[in-house]
Amino acid sequence: MKGIGVSPGISIGKAFVIKKDKTFVTSVLLKNDLEISSESERFNLAVDLAIAEIESIKTNRELILTEEDIAILETQIEFISDPQLKEDVIEKISGDKKNANDALIEVTANLVELFLNMDDAYMRARAADIQDIGSRILKHLNGSVKSDTQQFEPDTIIIAEDIAPSDTITMDTRYITGFATQMGSKTSHAAIIARSKGISAVVGCGDSLKLIKDGDVIILDGISGQIYINPDQQLIDEYRAKREDFIKQSEKLKALRDVPCVTTDGESIMLTANISGADDLADVFENGGEGVGLLRTELLFMNRDTFPSEEEQFEFYKKVALQSKDKSVIVRTIDIGGDKQLSYFGLPIEQNPFLGYRAIRICLDRTDIFITQLKAILRAGVFGDLKIMFPMISNVEEVRAAKNILAEAKKELQEEHIPFNVDIKVGIMIEIPSAAITADILAKEVDFFSIGTNDLCQYTLAVDRMNEKITHLYDPFNPGVLRLISNVIEEGYKHNIHVGMCGEMAGDPLATLLLLGMGLKEFSMSASAIPAIKNIIISHSLSSAQEVCKKIMEMDSSSTIITYLQDLAQ
Ligand code: PEP
Ligand code: MG
Repeated sequence: MKGIGVSPGISIGKAFVIKKDKTFVTSVLLKNDLEISSESERFNLAVDLAIAEIESIKTNRELILTEEDIAILETQIEFISDPQLKEDVIEKISGDKKNANDALIEVTANLVELFLNMDDAYMRARAADIQDIGSRILKHLNGSVKSDTQQFEPDTIIIAEDIAPSDTITMDTRYITGFATQMGSKTSHAAIIARSKGISAVVGCGDSLKLIKDGDVIILDGISGQIYINPDQQLIDEYRAKREDFIKQSEKLKALRDVPCVTTDGESIMLTANISGADDLADVFENGGEGVGLLRTELLFMNRDTFPSEEEQFEFYKKVALQSKDKSVIVRTIDIGGDKQLSYFGLPIEQNPFLGYRAIRICLDRTDIFITQLKAILRAGVFGDLKIMFPMISNVEEVRAAKNILAEAKKELQEEHIPFNVDIKVGIMIEIPSAAITADILAKEVDFFSIGTNDLCQYTLAVDRMNEKITHLYDPFNPGVLRLISNVIEEGYKHNIHVGMCGEMAGDPLATLLLLGMGLKEFSMSASAIPAIKNIIISHSLSSAQEVCKKIMEMDSSSTIITYLQDLAQ
């Protein structure tokens, strides 16, 4: 069976199948005010108990919690404590006369859907947190609170529909060597946690995973996404040898942390990471990242009732700047809108959200929001090497308008006698085909480009990046996409500006030589992908990568290109 390999490693062990109790809406309506107030009270108590339960997990000494685990628990407390969640449920109890269980299930389902429909993969993955919180409160509503920790035998492989953040925290993961889930993507929680704990994982296996029973012997390959059920001895031996190789290779990669990322013929390449806040930085430096190629600022604007103030934003960016210790950090201005809604902003529902009122388009329209963010970044720029990046640029007028507003922000700070970085570098994301084609024009306006292949791919190929039915068409190796990327890099060179890439393609080992050969100078990716990409770069010369690139650019189809690159990787 095959899924998506999201946490590399090979594990061979026994299956432990986790079945989640399904909850259904009962549709029993409340009859009077007495019932309404008793259901409201029951819900409020369940919320308090859920918070207390998470607090007790946080302080349970038997569980060895990582910083990431604590961060997840804290996020969950934040989500549960959000007055909006309480208000929505209470509104359904008192307004729609729903009982507390039904009200909570409906509100949770709506929130999960909202998050699942978000543009940003990180945000989409937060749906698992919401579902997890909903289940936790529900458990307290039902009065069935099971023990915290689950123990396993050595070499256990967890098989589940999905793995919730709190599952991974309360599981004693010492003996778990693999996760396989029916649902999920590269950025789902199971994947993030598995990577951070060094557990191999395959997600998105679909219904076929239901074939696995407790105690089945499983081979799980977190690199290729392959899973074997009750394999014969020959296959087990083959995979044991592969596992040995993988372990040796990982040790070697870990040792690369402090090795400079330079090709064998002396070309220095910058490897940076995509993050959402200061808490992600430890992981970046542990993996040998040299800075941040993309700080997504949307998280700062979500899970709240109003826009964050300039002061609040300043503290957020300052923390990142200080903890980055003078390493370059590219701060992207807000990329909201379309399907990435902020409840308090009241954006209209649109026919084509990806083509709609979003990102820089909102910022140029609502200069009040934009100026506040720019002032906060400019001020934080005194504490580290922060750069500003505008998303979703489609033409030169937008760049000029954004720069004018930046000048206005600087003027205001000057008048207020507040220190800021006057010479802050300004760049744009190249993620719309018109921007990629007119890179020569745009290059004259900015200090750097960062290629956003996630959106560039969807707009070039007319393939909605969220639609599961057409994922096979979402293809960064399409010659059309490659020509655009190549043009952007070439024009960057001609105009002497830095060109990086912060789309997922930058962390795909299959694309590394090609992008290196095109002349890409900065690869920004999830922190855990850095060592493997570094290994490829330092084992090749720029001239050999240029040869690879030249051959590929003459090929006529993505399948030929992918086969050629796969053969090379072998
Ligand atoms: C991109 O579009 O490639 C990108 C990095 O931005 P996001 O995934 O946040 O749209
Ligand atoms: Mg984008």
